[in-house]
Amino acid sequence: MSVFWNSRVRTLVPYVPGEQPRDRQFIKLNTNENPYPPALAVIEAVHAAATERLRLYPDPSCTEFRKAAAAACDVAQNQVFAGNGSDEILAFAFAAFFEQAPAPPVLFPDITYSFYPVYAALWGIPFREVPLTADWSLNRADYLVPSGGIIFPNPNAPTGCAIPREDIIAFAEYAAQNNSVVIVDEAYSAFSTTSILPLPSGAKNILCVRTLSKAYSLAGLRAGFAVGDPALITALERIRDSFNSYTLDSIAQAAARAALNESGYYSETCARVVATRERVSSRLRALGFTVLKSSANFIFIRHPHLSGSAFFMLLRENGILVRHFAKERINEYVRVSIGTDSDMDIFLNVCTAGIG
Ligand code: PMP
Repeated sequence: MSVFWNSRVRTLVPYVPGEQPRDRQFIKLNTNENPYPPALAVIEAVHAAATERLRLYPDPSCTEFRKAAAAACDVAQNQVFAGNGSDEILAFAFAAFFEQAPAPPVLFPDITYSFYPVYAALWGIPFREVPLTADWSLNRADYLVPSGGIIFPNPNAPTGCAIPREDIIAFAEYAAQNNSVVIVDEAYSAFSTTSILPLPSGAKNILCVRTLSKAYSLAGLRAGFAVGDPALITALERIRDSFNSYTLDSIAQAAARAALNESGYYSETCARVVATRERVSSRLRALGFTVLKSSANFIFIRHPHLSGSAFFMLLRENGILVRHFAKERINEYVRVSIGTDSDMDIFLNVCTAGIG
């Protein structure tokens, strides 16, 4: 606390990102990074963009990146917004589509991406956390009520559970009646079989947010994009241009474009992650773990005897970093990102020994 802090800074409760250890070599299964490297063409694009042209500002509209994203999603370029990671796009979307109090609250699940309440608090947006059902799904009727908008990841985080497309369409049709927006955070959709893309025809109030951090192995680059009706995209541009016109540097734009053009390579690496996820999930179930059915590049699991924090510590002592959320309902669980097969074998060995 400092006398120089304004009242906003004093009351903020910032998001806490997963640990990025510098001191010790961990098997890092805590922040849902992709264990496989980016495509070679992406590294080449980074090198090719590192020239004397860096003295110039980047393209503020990220034209080439957006073109590639539009082609990958089979939409028009004016249906795509590019951002510095999907977190930035989500922050802009809260500012663009959700109203401050005394508006009705924005709805999101009680167990979800913990950045949502942070953005809401930052912009002074009222929200209501809707409890997931006992089987970790969204109860459709809970979202068919008047609200200030809806946001959730699909698949959800940190559970990994997918939400049926028909439910999302129902939410959006209901929300359209009071002109509110449904934001579908598809950070992990590449590991799932469902998506809200292609957007249902006539859906003007759905924004689909994607990242290159997970499926495209580019968490260190910071690139994401959103797909929606051109009017929603214009709203995001208006927020961005009231804040920072150059959110993506020229190297990131070149690399993001190159990544989106390498769909063959990435479908292969994503399929490997999915295969490893399924193998690890069944092995853990056989050991007596509770493993939620994941559609993401991580699993949410409960040790048969140990508490969530004790299991987290056991893994840490064995050089494996995972994520534990000290939060009601999920305190006994840990989230484990899917690594390479050999990393996961080491993880499984520690799990097996820990049962003993
Ligand atoms: N949405 C969800 C659900 C996430 O888990 C993450 C990763 N922390 C993000 C968005 C943000 O990803 P990025 O900013 O790297 O695109």
